[in-house]
Amino acid sequence: MLITHDTQCALDVLVDLLNTDPDACGQEGLPDLAALRGFVVRHEISEVGTLGTEDLAAVRRVRGQIRQVFLADSTRAAAELVNAMVARAGSTPRLTDHDGHDWHMHFFAPCAALADHLAVEAGMALAFIVVAGERERLRRCEAPDCARVFVDLSRNRSRRYCDSRTCGNRLHVAAYRARQRTAAESPDAMVGAAEASGADGVRSRGA
Ligand SMILES: [Zn+2]
Ligand SMILES: [Zn+2]
Repeated sequence: MLITHDTQCALDVLVDLLNTDPDACGQEGLPDLAALRGFVVRHEISEVGTLGTEDLAAVRRVRGQIRQVFLADSTRAAAELVNAMVARAGSTPRLTDHDGHDWHMHFFAPCAALADHLAVEAGMALAFIVVAGERERLRRCEAPDCARVFVDLSRNRSRRYCDSRTCGNRLHVAAYRARQRTAAESPDAMVGAAEASGADGVRSRGA
């Protein structure tokens, strides 16, 4: 898949933003302005002015819009949501080499509010994914008690868990214990269990 470093960074930001949603992690991941400022610093989001409570509410609203694109059940629906989100926020594509970075595109308008900035950059990153025909890479974690999202950038599109060290590994351990129990009950099953644990790709399937 042809995906630029900038798009990848924008995808990282939007995945992290989506996973602050109470629907994803069980509690509000952006409970206050301090959390929002932390998010901005963590992702080195540029051209952010002084943040107020209205920014927090707006960012949470945009988070909901991005989540809708992410979980849209058709490409047409995703495309229409992206178009609406970017149009609402207003976009001014321009080249920049700020802060010592190589030349890259900013799509958000100069002096845009943080929520509009995030809406436009997320919208454009998702637009590139749609254009590349890679919407299936936008995934929801398959662990039963997890609603986090991720973008599967693995070569063979085989990633199933939001984070192989937590969700993937947790399930791997559970499957391993289940096999051990089966093996203990029936000696014949031992060979199969050993083979299965050796061949099981959960670990190598990770990020
Ligand atoms: Zn930049
Ligand atoms: Zn997960």
